[in-house]
Amino acid sequence: MSNQSGIFSNAVNLSVTGAAQTSPADAADASQDDAVHDVVIVGSGPAGYTAAIYTARANFAPVVLAGSVTAGGELMNTTEVENYPGFVDGIMGPELMENMQQQAERFGADIRYEDVVSVELDGEIKTVTVEDGTVLRARAVIISTGSEYRKLGLPDEERLSGHGVSWCATCDGFFFKDREVAVVGGGDSAIEEATFLTKFADKVTLIHRRDQFRASDIMKQRAFDDPKIEILWNTRVAAIQGEDKVTALSLEDTVTGEASELPVAGVFVAIGSDPRVSLVKDQLELTVDNTIAVDGRSSTTSLPGVFAAGDVVDPTYRQAITAAGSGCVAAVDVEHYLAALDS
Ligand SMILES: Cc1cc2nc3c(=O)[nH]c(=O)nc-3n(C[C@H](O)[C@H](O)[C@H](O)COP(=O)(O)OP(=O)(O)OC[C@H]3O[C@@H](n4cnc5c(N)ncnc54)[C@H](O)[C@@H]3O)c2cc1C
Repeated sequence: MSNQSGIFSNAVNLSVTGAAQTSPADAADASQDDAVHDVVIVGSGPAGYTAAIYTARANFAPVVLAGSVTAGGELMNTTEVENYPGFVDGIMGPELMENMQQQAERFGADIRYEDVVSVELDGEIKTVTVEDGTVLRARAVIISTGSEYRKLGLPDEERLSGHGVSWCATCDGFFFKDREVAVVGGGDSAIEEATFLTKFADKVTLIHRRDQFRASDIMKQRAFDDPKIEILWNTRVAAIQGEDKVTALSLEDTVTGEASELPVAGVFVAIGSDPRVSLVKDQLELTVDNTIAVDGRSSTTSLPGVFAAGDVVDPTYRQAITAAGSGCVAAVDVEHYLAALDS
């Protein structure tokens, strides 16, 4: 990276919207990726792939840094997705993501299954470094690294994800019609999830490890007033039981240590989520929710040429369709940004 600043200014002057520019050095040492790309997209969830489809169709030859083991994003961890428009009978999460990947590749997106380890986002040419040390340079960068639901940290939690363990009532509540489910958590979102689930489930047990909720008064009252919600105070989930799907929870009283069992068909973990901002937190403005701050409905961040999309900017909706919509917004913003640079 040390001798690149001179190359940067040349690249800006020579920039041509469209396919990445390459120098003769590329042929000699492809691993250095001496091209100055129009746009590099970090992340391959619905936001990243949608941004890739749009920027590829706009002829910007995007490079997508998809992640090495997490490519495809959160939907790779789920089974059926029933609320993504266009699929009458639903679609499996991994299949949906593979479709998006192929759609982006069809228009020329260059998808690389690599993890980004650092970024330099200041200045006209940004740099993105991947794990093997290769440095990519780009005129615009889209950050679409998603967010991660906090886990309980139990051994069977991942195994039963999509088979009764869920982090999203909006996504999965429908599967629990006339069943009994549990929600773990004590904040506004836990109560919101519990209340939403009462539309489907016969009974919702809200499990909280303390003796009072952190939630706002109005949300607390909503839980207390709902005849379908039962609250278990001072209780933690010690284990999730079930072979192929969740059948019960092993519980422990946090005061007395007494063990008990709660038969349920599903457990919704609502203990918060963490936007994946570690790459950019020292360079971009963040919000109080720790998401990347964007200007209004746009994807424009606090640095010119840097755009953000998907769950990493969204403390509220966090759905595949909203992430995809946000990826589209970022692509259009990139288009306008590059057009202005070239005019
Ligand atoms: C179990 C589960 C089930 C769900 N079910 C539904 C559902 O049925 N319907 C629905 O609408 N929503 C559902 N959601 C929510 C939905 O998955 C998310 O809202 C959506 O995936 C967010 O998209 P995104 O592109 O912002 O981020 P993500 O899908 O989280 O993708 C983030 C991407 O960033 C990449 N990345 C992160 N850091 C790096 C790095 N350093 N280098 C390179 N790449 C990096 C990852 O590899 C990944 O590709 C579900 C979520 C979960 C967890």
